[in-house]
Amino acid sequence: MTVNALPRGFCRDCLAPAETDAKRCRACGSPRVLRHPELDALSLAHIDCDAFYAAVEKRDNPELRDKPVIIGGGKRGVVSTACYIARINGVRSAMPMFKALEACPTAVVVKPDMEKYVRVGRQVRDMMQALTPMVEPISIDEAFLDLAGTRKLHGASPALVLARFARQVEQEVGITVSVGLSYCKFLAKVASDRDKPRGFSVIGQAEAVSFLAQQPVTLIWGVGKAFAATLAGDGLRSIGQLQTLERGELMRRYGTMGDRLYHLSRGLDERSVKPRSEAKSVSSETTFDTDLSRFEDLVPVLRALSERVSARLKKADIAGRTIVLKLKTADFRIRTRNRQLGDPTRLADRIFHTGLDMLRRETDGTRYRLLGIGVSDLTDAGKADPPDLVDQLSHKRALAEGAIDSLREKFGRQAVETGYTFGRGRAGRPPRED
Ligand SMILES: [Mg+2]
Repeated sequence: MTVNALPRGFCRDCLAPAETDAKRCRACGSPRVLRHPELDALSLAHIDCDAFYAAVEKRDNPELRDKPVIIGGGKRGVVSTACYIARINGVRSAMPMFKALEACPTAVVVKPDMEKYVRVGRQVRDMMQALTPMVEPISIDEAFLDLAGTRKLHGASPALVLARFARQVEQEVGITVSVGLSYCKFLAKVASDRDKPRGFSVIGQAEAVSFLAQQPVTLIWGVGKAFAATLAGDGLRSIGQLQTLERGELMRRYGTMGDRLYHLSRGLDERSVKPRSEAKSVSSETTFDTDLSRFEDLVPVLRALSERVSARLKKADIAGRTIVLKLKTADFRIRTRNRQLGDPTRLADRIFHTGLDMLRRETDGTRYRLLGIGVSDLTDAGKADPPDLVDQLSHKRALAEGAIDSLREKFGRQAVETGYTFGRGRAGRPPRED
């Protein structure tokens, strides 16, 4: 029996098949030859633009091309994105600007132009949607794609389609992307991060468990600094150590998170790619453990939900003009109330206070089992929350909220609690964020 021992492969520059084990492409001489035994079988991808904001600025100003570039606001702000040259010098996202400039004094600091980044992000997303309707955007510059069943349409394997896509983005948009290809979301996302920039990394079924065994627990989605410290306290630092524990044991120790640790440590991830065309609204809701009727019990829940909605709007760089309050009574009747604002908002504080006004009218002794808040009439964030000369207070609140956001970005969500949520997060089960 003759077995073709050579894994399937192609050149990422000229897309010619790689039929020998030569290091360079026989057709064009490029060293960027991709080979993997499962290359033809995998179809779930995560695509992430490389140093997105910085890449867009370098594209638009060639003088910046070979310089360290930091996108961020002012000397007292934080780093939003650093280009790879700045990263080599030790600059990291969310680093205070003064520290970044200490590490890299020659860096050019550019103020973010969100409207432009949203435009470029949309252009890239439209190109993804031309490949498959199964595109799930995660943020302005990254998305999951499921290319299963597209081989006939494209006359090529998903891997080749993705390589062609990466090349097309470079030529037509003028920025670069990194591709992660695998069989599940978790490992596709891990893969896209392994070989940045201009990367194309593949993690197949056969290697998943042994690859994961060598990784730190922090690679698992949801394991932040605090939880990693808990795990380290229990002697668990690598995913390989997690792999030795049974599901029941992990769940007994860590609850639902234990279930996630069990599955993800073994490369088991059933989440499918959920296409989102253009979102019509962004909302968050929660069902209470016990029904609530008192205004003061509902307020902290509304605050927490408003912050969650705001965080999602900010992440997607959108804002909305209409605030929607949703309540479900103990006997399962749904009440929704809307209010339109003068300008679109993405601030937790405005969402909260508008919702609070509506909530006050609905707290008439009725017992509620669910509370939700949402924002619709979505637009670009560029038009949101203009500095309001009439309402100086709201402007001050907006500035304060910006400061809270950057602290949270640095130290995690729990770092800053507002008076409304502090120590009162038990009334409702927070919905899981995905
Ligand atoms: Mg990115």
